[in-house]
Amino acid sequence: MATTRKTAIISVYDKTGLLDLAKGLIKQDVRLLASGGTAKMIRESGFAVEDVSAITHAPEMLAGRVKTLHPAVHAGILARDLASDEKDLAEQNINKVDYVICNLYPFKDTIAKINVTIAEAVEEIDVGGVTLIRAAAKNHTRVTILSDPADYSGFLEELEKGEVSERSRNLYALKAFQHTADYDASISDFFRKQYASDGSQQLALRYGANPHQKPAAAFVKTGPLPFKVLGGSPGYINLLDALNAWFLVKELKTALGHPAAASFKHVSPAGAAIGVPLSADERKVCMVDDIEGLENSQLAQAYARARGADRMSSFGDMIALSDIVDVPTAKIISREVSDGVIAAGFEAAALEILKKKKGGKYLVLQMDPEYQPPAQESRIVGGITLTQGRNDVQISPKSFTSIITPKDSAPLSDAALRDLTVATIALKYTQSNSVCYALNGQVIGLGAGQQSRIHCTRLAGDKADNWWLRFSPRVLDIKWKKGIKRADKSNAIDLLVSGELPKKGPQREEYEAFFEEVPVPFSEEDREEWLNKLSEVAVSSDAFFPFTDNVYRAARSGVKYIAAPTGSQNDSAVFETAQTLGITFIEQSIRLFHH
Ligand code: 5GP
Repeated sequence: MATTRKTAIISVYDKTGLLDLAKGLIKQDVRLLASGGTAKMIRESGFAVEDVSAITHAPEMLAGRVKTLHPAVHAGILARDLASDEKDLAEQNINKVDYVICNLYPFKDTIAKINVTIAEAVEEIDVGGVTLIRAAAKNHTRVTILSDPADYSGFLEELEKGEVSERSRNLYALKAFQHTADYDASISDFFRKQYASDGSQQLALRYGANPHQKPAAAFVKTGPLPFKVLGGSPGYINLLDALNAWFLVKELKTALGHPAAASFKHVSPAGAAIGVPLSADERKVCMVDDIEGLENSQLAQAYARARGADRMSSFGDMIALSDIVDVPTAKIISREVSDGVIAAGFEAAALEILKKKKGGKYLVLQMDPEYQPPAQESRIVGGITLTQGRNDVQISPKSFTSIITPKDSAPLSDAALRDLTVATIALKYTQSNSVCYALNGQVIGLGAGQQSRIHCTRLAGDKADNWWLRFSPRVLDIKWKKGIKRADKSNAIDLLVSGELPKKGPQREEYEAFFEEVPVPFSEEDREEWLNKLSEVAVSSDAFFPFTDNVYRAARSGVKYIAAPTGSQNDSAVFETAQTLGITFIEQSIRLFHH
């Protein structure tokens, strides 16, 4: 039977403000219907309230599991002001419901208790309340849904003046949808932890960025995790490195058609390369001259280059390999200090080698090579979610066809296109700002995470210089004392080539103790002379060069090709400087900031 008197259904777990609300509603002559505990509290305070059973003609059942779930309730809430809906209601003798006030069982509080059982948690899964809230929120063009006691007083104020405004109803509905979404997320989180935290969907991590940041986990909300842990136990930064590195090598392989490798530290590459055969000197510089089968494994060549580019930075790296790991690759890894490896798969003998590393604790991850990340990605910073479309731009040799200087340039050689591709894909996965120098299919110097571009260009250039100085006979012919560790050799070579070697003092003495014959330090002239022999280097920048200083600096490290986005006020000066220095400047039109 239709009536003009308004009806409210109230079913609240958190009874804060309930009595003031009931009083305000009764003042406006609203009919109150409430579930068991809610009705009891209102009634005991002397306000007129009916049990929901007054309209359902059914008792609460199953110890409260079924209280308000009934067509008399939900048809009353969901009915629109349509003749057909009115007819349906009239046929069943159901009245419309105008206001729903509901908040849910405290699932989050319950699961926060130590040692909570699944049975206890299950009892706190609100069913009818979620249905009340969702139904009312769905029909918010007509129905007001209050899911937060903090909204009661504003609601009553509006009601006293006449009606609840459309804007308020909209905002209450939004809050209601968020309330149920948050509630459902905490339920699925709980059950994911219970039923899928064996690594199938969720993986407990040792800790977050630092040991005191606990608990830490990696998970996907649907489907399986795209990687399996075959050895060790990953930390948070391991996974940041592993996943970024994986996407880098996958992209390098797709772009250039060769197996690819990356060596990551602190979420930027220390090295990245494709499988290009190594010369005898390169084998020495990369410390792989004794690796059997290197000449037959492009993956091993790629990792030898990635690891050999900046050996100091790669110390303790997270490695990514685009292909199935073979024995030569595993052998290179096995004797370096490294935290872990992610790869498309492992030959049995290679896996055996890797599993022995670090007393069996070496992190070995197998990635699903077919995995495609979603188009949208988000992260939470201090409770605020930032979301963006994934950077899915494809970099390939075709990205470097827009040659700005010299005007009459012939198309670039395959080697130049390859090196620009390597440098640019490396930048796509490097903390910005970033500038990368590449040669022979590998990164030779990378400047990451600097606030000013020239500092990236200098840092990367200095690294490229150090890399090249390691090819000088003075370094190649070093006579080491017996038993010097690989890492100590790398550190000593860095002191020698970087110009950081102190003239005297304890560090100098420690350094000199590594050698049978102490190498003669490089004079300024020695360095210049050797660096002048470096040529054909490709440079890429993740954004435009704002000043010409970058081009001047690049030129000092044998740079022949620069690819960068344009758009600086100084573009023309930058192009002219490149032209004057004999550098080919290519517009790579896509900015590639990465954080
Ligand atoms: P009361 O204290 O009034 O007995 O119960 C209020 C709680 O019951 C509210 O948190 C509300 O979300 C929940 N609720 C309302 N209807 C149902 C139902 O049909 N089944 C279940 N499981 N919970 C309900």
